[in-house]
Amino acid sequence: MDRLVVALDGPGSSGKSSVGAAAARTLGYRFCDTGLLYRAVTWLAEARGVSVDDPTGLVDLVDVVDLAPDDAGRLARVVVDGVDHTGDVHSPAVDSAVSAVSAVPEVRAALLARQRALAAEGGIVMAGRDIGTVVLPDADLKIYLDASVDERARRRAEERGLDPHGTEAASILEALRRRDRLDTTRAVAPLRVAPDARIIATDDNTFELTVGTVVATIRDAEARRDDRATGNTKGDPPGPGAPASR
Ligand code: C5P
Repeated sequence: MDRLVVALDGPGSSGKSSVGAAAARTLGYRFCDTGLLYRAVTWLAEARGVSVDDPTGLVDLVDVVDLAPDDAGRLARVVVDGVDHTGDVHSPAVDSAVSAVSAVPEVRAALLARQRALAAEGGIVMAGRDIGTVVLPDADLKIYLDASVDERARRRAEERGLDPHGTEAASILEALRRRDRLDTTRAVAPLRVAPDARIIATDDNTFELTVGTVVATIRDAEARRDDRATGNTKGDPPGPGAPASR
């Protein structure tokens, strides 16, 4: 059986990278978190003093950043000039600057071919904001992982061991709201639900339940593709546009 190309989109801190990586591991798929590419360019721009108003300078940085596999085989390490900078790209400074860098059309265009090349051999879960809409519009399966901004902020604060009613938790919520606003309103490749995506709402789910739902959705898509390949349409569930968990 050929493995699928799966686009996994959703807003910041919706769990795309942890859920996507766990589902990919269960299924023996590769996993790529494309947010790391935008984060890496943003971090490098700050480190090298390249302004967000300098598209040519930013595009030059795209060639310098690379993703490498971690111990679990996920493309989850950021490498620049042979040095691992994974820790640096999740800083609050990168969090607040990354949406502006990601809105630069030249940066997006430069990263497009890179992302498509990674998906070309199939068997991959690729996470991001515009994977199903722009990067891989012909993906075999598109999943949109959703959660309210309050729930996403709550999870993030909990991960960091913060008081949920404290000022740090409040600023996480504010930063996520701002990033949602910037990512959904930018002119090029804004965060949108692809018309043929299955929306999985995770507000009331445990992590394990969400991973299980994503794994089941991918297995279902694999089975339907196999059925189509063998001409067995008996008992086929509704077509590819049907929402699994809306
Ligand atoms: O997913 P993560 O929060 O790490 O992404 C960081 C930022 O990178 C997002 O806020 C968004 O601006 C940008 N991004 C994007 N397109 C993608 C992935 C991430 O614009 N496919």
